[in-house]
Amino acid sequence: MATMTYCPRCANPLTTKHDGGRERQACPDEVCGFIHFGDFSIGCSGVVLLEDDGVTKALLVQRGQNPFAGTWQLPGGYAEHDEPLSLAVEREVEEEASVVAKVRDVIAFRHSLGGTAGGPSTNIYIIFRLDLIEGEPKHDGVEIADAGFFSLDEIAAMDAVQGLSRWGIEQALVTEPGSGLTPDDGAPGAERPGWQLFGLETVDSRVWQS
Ligand SMILES: [Zn+2]
Repeated sequence: MATMTYCPRCANPLTTKHDGGRERQACPDEVCGFIHFGDFSIGCSGVVLLEDDGVTKALLVQRGQNPFAGTWQLPGGYAEHDEPLSLAVEREVEEEASVVAKVRDVIAFRHSLGGTAGGPSTNIYIIFRLDLIEGEPKHDGVEIADAGFFSLDEIAAMDAVQGLSRWGIEQALVTEPGSGLTPDDGAPGAERPGWQLFGLETVDSRVWQS
């Protein structure tokens, strides 16, 4: 975990404090109370499938910039800290490929610890399945070098398809749309601003009746 030198809230030099069973960097100012629990980030990407004359195609974008320029992958990126996750992935799909699509379900996720190959921060990367609404794939030619719907045969023949993206597409192909974790607007807390809950099923209150 990256170390911090100063409190990000009040700029005091940080010391350490025993909290939750281990030593953590913490602000010595009792009123401030800042504790550094670590660096976390959330990534997301979307599998968007298209049936074209009986041929299944998947949306891929090609990275225009390093790291990994030239690599093909699912459209996606980091969720902003104040952005509902389903909107983050829908935004990324539209920004990177000009395709409008709506979240159907969560089909996979990866957890990677900071400092490993996953990147500098501990990260959860969530792969969504989205329903295509409209749009012809377009790209900006800078961040994204190319974008399009490709058949599975085409993807199999492409160089430099990110393994995680290929695996995400496989997850979507072998499962029914909606069989993953779906947004449940009726779940406890789902009405709170800034909260989203995803479940395998919409819970029926009769579960609790004998
Ligand atoms: Zn402080």
